[in-house]
Amino acid sequence: MELRRKLEILADAAKYDASCASSGTDKRDSRKGGLGSTEGMGICHAYTPDGRCVSLLKVLLTNACVFDCAYCINRAGSNVQRARFTVRELVDLTLHFYRRNYIEGLFLSSGIIRSPDYTMEQITEVARQLREVHGFRGYIHLKTIPDAAPDLLAKAGLYADRLSINIELPMAESLRALAPEKDAPGIRRAMGRMRLRIDEAKEAKRTEGRAAAPRFAPAGQSTQMIVGADAADDRTVLGTTANLYASYGLRRVYYSAYSPIPDASALLPPAAPPLVREHRLYQADWLLRFYGFELDEIMAGGEGGHLDLGIDPKLAWALKHRERFPVDVNRAPREMLLRVPGLGAKTVDRLLSARRHRSIRSDDLGRLRLPLAKLLPFLVTADHRPRGGLLDRADLRRIVAPRTGFAAQARPVQLALL
Ligand code: SF4
Repeated sequence: MELRRKLEILADAAKYDASCASSGTDKRDSRKGGLGSTEGMGICHAYTPDGRCVSLLKVLLTNACVFDCAYCINRAGSNVQRARFTVRELVDLTLHFYRRNYIEGLFLSSGIIRSPDYTMEQITEVARQLREVHGFRGYIHLKTIPDAAPDLLAKAGLYADRLSINIELPMAESLRALAPEKDAPGIRRAMGRMRLRIDEAKEAKRTEGRAAAPRFAPAGQSTQMIVGADAADDRTVLGTTANLYASYGLRRVYYSAYSPIPDASALLPPAAPPLVREHRLYQADWLLRFYGFELDEIMAGGEGGHLDLGIDPKLAWALKHRERFPVDVNRAPREMLLRVPGLGAKTVDRLLSARRHRSIRSDDLGRLRLPLAKLLPFLVTADHRPRGGLLDRADLRRIVAPRTGFAAQARPVQLALL
């Protein structure tokens, strides 16, 4: 098969992998020798319409797989054209695209060929050759195979900036039903081992110094959870996410909205808005991690264990807790300002800093390009107070909600593959 055709197939097959850019890794600069940098101008990123940032060379080693996970287009029983790169082809492609400044690095995943160990060896060999043979200093994210031998995963960490092991589904019982060859406890064990190695490398860097310490996945580990292939509600998804962050020190849990597979369409519900759900879950996850919200608070903004698809989770919470508003931007503590719809963490910090010197007025908020229509009903400034009764109006949601978006009552029911 022509290399170009392989690239078409294997780049397309990789689009189901959610991954994001080279954040948090070591700063390496090719001007000090070698090839490629992990930061700097001229490195290409791609942003998908739902805001995800992806590397342009995001490919699979192969889309052939001996496993038969029901939610996966590449499963053994799927009727798709198969392709496979050799290690050499992938190394050359990466270097070629990097030199042309098409990409900022490599995101490499794979179906399982022959065995988990063999596949992991092939994935790692690509990274090894890039680093050791070609002095490649760009970003490398490797998806690892949890069933592979622990020393193979450890070897991958020597070359990759970030490693990930997919948790796959929010509930272990769903994994048993939809991907019986996969082992939920085994996936968690592999994540636990990876965390230990990452923590050890960090500690060594602290005590021995950057140059002497052994390198292991400096950008940490992440995971991906497919949302919408089983019956897990948003509460379950967010609860599992919180547990993963706490247990394995993950840098990021990526959600991947389940994409209906053509030859399994009989099993799937029509017209679900999976990307909207994925987006709301990301927003909720952000509130849990950086805005001081508890899971119960976030879920109180929705109904029946699901987030409100029509509005963002912070606005949904605020509409159900109107007694907490309006908040005085010149007096309220940071934790309360973070709860005001339309105020992000960076904006809050800027406001806190500005108000030390003068009173914040509505014009100041406008200059920060904040969404005033959403914000002002919940906020008191030096020259503004929401007019009487506004916060009690039954149609407040209509006033503050964005014009576009899904109406909450139109939430389609996501049926399960189970
Ligand atoms: S192991 Fe991975 S590539 Fe293979 S069928 Fe399962 S999800 Fe798809």
